[in-house]
Amino acid sequence: MERYDRQLRILGEEGQEKLRSATVAVVGLGGLGSIITYYLAAAGVGKLIVIDDGLVELSNLNRQILYTTSDIGLPKAYIAAARLKALNPEVEVVPRQARLAPDNAGKLLGEADILVDGLDNWESRHILNRYAVEEGKPLVHGAVQGFYAQVTTVVPGKGPCLACFLPEPPKPRGVIPIIGAIVGIVASFEAAEVVKLVTGMGEPLVGRLLVIDAYRGGTDTVELRRNPRCPVCGDLKG
Ligand SMILES: [Zn+2]
Repeated sequence: MERYDRQLRILGEEGQEKLRSATVAVVGLGGLGSIITYYLAAAGVGKLIVIDDGLVELSNLNRQILYTTSDIGLPKAYIAAARLKALNPEVEVVPRQARLAPDNAGKLLGEADILVDGLDNWESRHILNRYAVEEGKPLVHGAVQGFYAQVTTVVPGKGPCLACFLPEPPKPRGVIPIIGAIVGIVASFEAAEVVKLVTGMGEPLVGRLLVIDAYRGGTDTVELRRNPRCPVCGDLKG
């Protein structure tokens, strides 16, 4: 319990027990996933399913802080699992070297109570969003580009899903320019959303999109509404 002393003062033993009993899947172990998984392991989430099909590349290292130069060429899922276990051996970490697809979503994510978006592309985000809505699982979304970032939480039936405000994935635009520290901001927000969802504390960003403009140094919270004609969640009762 000494490990969790500083947060026990906020969450209490009951909240800590909820974290220990939780299973969280983080999809994508790049810049976002590095930080999301690190804070969730540090916080004592009982089981983390960490999913990525990629290998560590030199150009990842300005933001993907789970990896070091000597990891280049090695599979992210397994390196991440080893680092997270070293940080907190009490956490069960399940590495999955896989790319999320409609036909493997159930196998990869079926065990998880909460899904977290650490992805870098909207095509995979839409697969994750559809699975979350179909299974009624909360999904924490974050995305980053340059100095800008956004985060919101989807609780199916209670608020909008990602397809409510973006029905089709936008065309991929090639390499996304990213300042590493901005990834840290939004990924930390995502980890905090998970802690709130698991413990029931605070107000998750359901129906609200937090937009971070680190270039100017400001944030906005934009209200998001459910789209009754949403192709993914339009039929759900709210
Ligand atoms: Zn929707």
